[in-house]
Formats: sequence, structure tokens, C-alpha cells
Amino acid sequence: MDFELTQTQTLIRDTARKFAREVVAPLARKLDREEIFPVETFRKMGELGLLGVNVPAEFGGAEAGVVSYSLAVMEIAAACASTSVAMCVTNMVAELIVQFGTEAQKKQHVTKLTSGEAIAGAFALSEPHAGSDPGAGRTTAVKQGDRWVLNGTKQWITSGAYAGVIIVWARTSNEGNKGLSCFIVEAGTPGLIVGKHEDKMGLRGSNTVPLTFENCEVGEDHLLGKQGDGFKLAMVALDGGRVGIASQACGVGRAAIEASVKYAKERQAFGQPIGDFQALRFMLADMHTQQQTAELLSWRAASMKEKKQPFTREASMAKLFASEMSNRVCDKAVQIHGGYGYIDEFPVERYLRDARVQTIYEGTSEIQRIVIAREVIKAAG
Ligand SMILES: Cc1cc2nc3c(=O)[nH]c(=O)nc-3n(C[C@H](O)[C@H](O)[C@H](O)COP(=O)(O)OP(=O)(O)OC[C@H]3O[C@@H](n4cnc5c(N)ncnc54)[C@H](O)[C@@H]3O)c2cc1C
Repeated sequence: MDFELTQTQTLIRDTARKFAREVVAPLARKLDREEIFPVETFRKMGELGLLGVNVPAEFGGAEAGVVSYSLAVMEIAAACASTSVAMCVTNMVAELIVQFGTEAQKKQHVTKLTSGEAIAGAFALSEPHAGSDPGAGRTTAVKQGDRWVLNGTKQWITSGAYAGVIIVWARTSNEGNKGLSCFIVEAGTPGLIVGKHEDKMGLRGSNTVPLTFENCEVGEDHLLGKQGDGFKLAMVALDGGRVGIASQACGVGRAAIEASVKYAKERQAFGQPIGDFQALRFMLADMHTQQQTAELLSWRAASMKEKKQPFTREASMAKLFASEMSNRVCDKAVQIHGGYGYIDEFPVERYLRDARVQTIYEGTSEIQRIVIAREVIKAAG
């Protein structure tokens, strides 16, 4: 067991940290207040290799591995959770095409994603009536000659209005999970209709829209993986995606702790800094211990994925613990700030609003517990 970072991991973390502090953090409050998607930031992230951290260099990625990816997400999320979620989805989409795409699909789409030319990638699995249960999806893809024709609606699609490359799950037969297939749809394809941006509690700088497909036609070369393999591709993508969301939660949690320590040293009550009260010190001790535990779980899952070991249980554990940690930690951060924690002048109210969705998307905490329990029972034989 080695807790030291490699040279590559240190380089990626430091690059992401510098960019996060100099470019991402100064914009975070404005993006949240005005619901702006940071297009320019994504172009710059492409130049730095942050949109394909675990993608081979031949497709424009940094080829730096999954632990590096986790480190980079933590840094961006500590500065702006909204920016980090779009970064996570873009990396996830690029990796999925690398893993399951044909050579032509990789050449056509992955470099666009990693370079920032596509601005972002989007992952369109959820539907208005089916989130936790994607096998109940009703969007259809029907073969007509050498074209696939998509019809249906996807819900909650992160970066949906900006993404140049969208992976869409659609039903190619009625055989439950085996009836799902996966398609690459490019922005601007006729019949792809971008709906109204959701007015969210948090992550307000992240774009979230429904996408409707009305006789939306794509060529047969837009099928990703084999027909009927869509459910498998979704599960593979979500395992990796959960490492991303766990890392995002660690970043937000760390930012909340840093803000709380700073405030606890400055704010006076009863003639002394509030950080001298044992009640607050105990809060900080618990916050830090939980955040560090979440980091270790996230890096273990990342390292297992990197070594191509099965990591489904580890990814779910990291996502479950880290997302619940960030909610507890951000709540305590608001408490430490007293009344000032509840207003826009300090960032902790944003951290709390941003953390809230982390136990919901990429599989709710209940779904993570189902996955973990299934894996634990299976391993017991
Ligand atoms: C801001 C945001 C961004 C998102 N981005 C994307 C995206 O980019 N792409 C995408 O495809 N989706 C995205 N989603 C959708 C997200 O993944 C779903 O919201 C999530 O999976 C939950 O699905 P649901 O909302 O339909 O809730 P439901 O599935 O209806 O669940 C409602 C409640 O029931 C519980 N529940 C459901 N089934 C079970 C069960 N078997 N056992 C116990 N409890 C259960 C859930 O845990 C939850 O508490 C996003 C959502 C949000 C809010």
C-alpha cells in the first residue's frame, strides 16, 4: 500500500488546483447567482487535458489514469461544484466512447470532447418517469433502412443545452433491460429538441434540461456498442461516474471545512475566537475525519478501476459515504458560520445547496445501498 502520489498524479492535481483557484473559483458565485454555464472555462479545461484525464493521448486525453481524474475533480469541485459536474459527465462520455466505440466513433467524437470543441458531453439516461429504474425507459429507436429513428423524452440532462456530443439510451426492443441500446447523437441533429432549463436549488451554474427526440434520425454508425447492450453500458459508465461524484463531494466538503476553519479563527464571541470553543473544535474534528475518509474511499475505488479490477462495490461505497459526508459537513459549516452562514456573503450556503443533489444523482443513496448489499452478499458465496 502506497499513499504517495506519482509524478503524473501530482502534476494533474497541481494543474487542476492552479486552474481552479485562478479561473474557476472567481466565477463560482456569479455562475450560481445568474445561472450561467461557463463555456469559456470548458474550452480552457480542454487545453489543460481536464476533459479527458483518463483518455488515451491519441484521442486528445491526458492519459493520466483514474486517480489523477479523481484528484482533478476534487480540485475543480472545491472551487465550483457546478463546473465539476459538467467536467465529470464530459470525462464519463469520452471514456465510454473510448471503451465501447468503433475506431471511427472514437476519432469523430472523443477528440471533440477532450479538446473542448464539443464544449461538453451529455449522458441522457433518465426519463421523466424513470430515474432509479432506467430499464423502464420508454424512449424508442426504430431501424428504418440504414437509419435509427429516436422518439421520446429524457429528463435532467446535465449540460444538455451545451453538449456537442450526447449519449442517448433508447429501447430497440421490448425485452426489459436487454431491449436498451445506446446512441451517439450530436447537437443540432434535426428532431433533437432542448427543453427549458430547470430552476434548481443548487448547482445553478450547471445546465439541466429535458431533451425530446421527435423522429430524430441518426445513421447506423451512431449505435454505441452492440444493439441490446445499452443497460450494460449504462452500468459500466455509472460505476466510473460514481468515482467522479464521490470526488466532487470530497472537493465540496473540503471547501466547506477550509471556509469554516478560516471563519472560526476570525469570528469572536465572548471575548475569544469561536474556534477556541471545544464545541466547534469537535465539529471540525468530525468534519475533517469524515472528509478524509471519503477521500480514501474515492481513491481506492479510482485505483481499482485504474488497475482494471472489479470496483462496483467500492465505487458505490465511495459515492454513498462521500455524498452523505458532504451534506453533513456543509450543514455543520453553515452552523459554524452562525447567521452569516445563511446568507450569500459567505460561500457555505452555496456549498450546502450544491451538496444536496449528490445523494440523488448517479444513483440515490438508497440505490447505492442496494448495490453494496448485493455485492457483499454475492462475495460471501
Ligand atoms: C441536477 C441533476 C442532474 C442530473 N443529471 C443527469 C444526467 O446528466 N443524466 C441522467 O440520465 N440523469 C441525470 N439526473 C437524474 C438522476 O440520476 C435521477 O434523478 C436519480 O437517478 C433518481 O431518479 P428519480 O429522480 O427518477 O427518482 P426515483 O427513481 O423516482 O426515486 C424516488 C425515491 O425513491 C427511492 N427509490 C427508488 N427505487 C428504490 C428502490 N428500489 N429501493 C429503495 N428506494 C428506492 C429513491 O432512492 C428516491 O429516494 C440528474 C438529476 C439531477 C437532480
